Amino acid sequence: MTDRTAPAPRICPNCDGFATVAITTGSRDRHGLLPTLTVDCRACNGTGTVPARRVPEGARA
Ligand SMILES: [Zn+2]
Repeated sequence: MTDRTAPAPRICPNCDGFATVAITTGSRDRHGLLPTLTVDCRACNGTGTVPARRVPEGARA
């Protein structure tokens, strides 16, 4: 039985792995293009994963 040295990352529950999305401003610019803004997930800062929670040894009261 192997033991991992680091817990495997988990998919971010807030964005479900889609950490970076392009959103539109809702209106087209004067060239007829639809400008988009790239926004990262706030919970995982655009990584799409969150580190597995592990309570450090001795952290419990
Ligand atoms: Zn996320």
